[in-house]
Amino acid sequence: MQAAGAVLKLLQGRNQDEPGPAGLTRDEALAWLRETEDWKLGFLWEEADRVRREHVGDDVHLRGLIEVSNHCRRQCHYCGIRAGRRTPRYRMTAYEVLECARLAQRLEYGTVVLQAGEDPGITTGFVTDLVRRIKDETPLAVTLSLGERKLAELEEWRAAGADRYLLKHETSDDELFRRIHPACGDEEMHRLELLRRLKAMGYETGSGVMVGIPGQTFESLAGDLLLFRELDLEMVGCGPFLPHPETPLGEGPGAGDWGLGKDTDQVPNTDVMTLKVVALVRMFCPDANIPSTTALATANKESGRELGLQRGANVWMPNLTPLKYRVLYEIYPGKAKAPDTAEEFHEKLLATLAALGRRPGKGPGGQRQKESHEDTRSAKEDI
Ligand code: SAM
Repeated sequence: MQAAGAVLKLLQGRNQDEPGPAGLTRDEALAWLRETEDWKLGFLWEEADRVRREHVGDDVHLRGLIEVSNHCRRQCHYCGIRAGRRTPRYRMTAYEVLECARLAQRLEYGTVVLQAGEDPGITTGFVTDLVRRIKDETPLAVTLSLGERKLAELEEWRAAGADRYLLKHETSDDELFRRIHPACGDEEMHRLELLRRLKAMGYETGSGVMVGIPGQTFESLAGDLLLFRELDLEMVGCGPFLPHPETPLGEGPGAGDWGLGKDTDQVPNTDVMTLKVVALVRMFCPDANIPSTTALATANKESGRELGLQRGANVWMPNLTPLKYRVLYEIYPGKAKAPDTAEEFHEKLLATLAALGRRPGKGPGGQRQKESHEDTRSAKEDI
């Protein structure tokens, strides 16, 4: 890795602030984010793919996504299921969620991800019972992605057996975050602090950002890469920002009164920019589980998913939500167009992986390197 890391440094060498695991510094990451020459980017793609293979192997972990509810109390300026938007709302029953989990088990996925808007109707007890039943009745790992919930309920869900929690910090630019993600007023703490607390509770913890959200600069995006490393995350998911026309950020970067003059350092919300971020996340967090996101596959319908997997990603999150609900979980347009059932989609997925020379992961697919480090550590302690 050192030799190839040195090539990346040579191509983008700047100054000598603290290097990342592949030897990349913040300024070098920044230079890669700004890079536009295809021949140079080829080195980044190759190196990210190599680091992925070396650290997490050729398995692609399959996490079945279940979009449990599209109710949300928040008014995030980017999100199509924000409170106040007139759209039909739904909340799945426990029976329906369990049916999806059984489907995940039949398709031999290792994990289900229960995701929802920040919905007080998804009560503490509802989630606790659901987690218990999935853990009792299937071999699946359970990931929760339910927004900023109270510490007490996060503790309860962990005790019930939940394995992982996903909470994207969306951008490390705090002022921008507050602008696009208005507070409700009863938050116990900032999302970043919540991520630290989730780790301390024993969750495998994931975060991520939207690439190209209006107001995001290259500088702040480079800061996100360092933050991912500092937070020591087990999962990092990054997709392009995709404007939803019925939201305040509906027209995308440069739209409306976002103070984005012509000379701003606005990050574009393109598939290529997202792929650079995926590749750099792999360099900064070599052992992390990194999804090739649906947002990336939506931005580049032809090959976004595949390119993500070839440029650093090792996770795919097929959508198991029943179609009648999936079309209503419209966080951005174009996401739910695929007419496939989960079974039809699965056949295509297997063919895609085979064509890429990859294979579906077996088992829950936790963070392999950390697991083996833990094993070594406890073996030493035993001695
Ligand atoms: N409510 C939970 C939360 O906020 O963490 C989970 C659901 S939320 C809809 C899941 C993710 O969708 C967010 O973290 C955000 O990154 C992404 N998202 C929302 N609107 C988006 C948009 N317009 N383009 C791209 N991603 C978007």
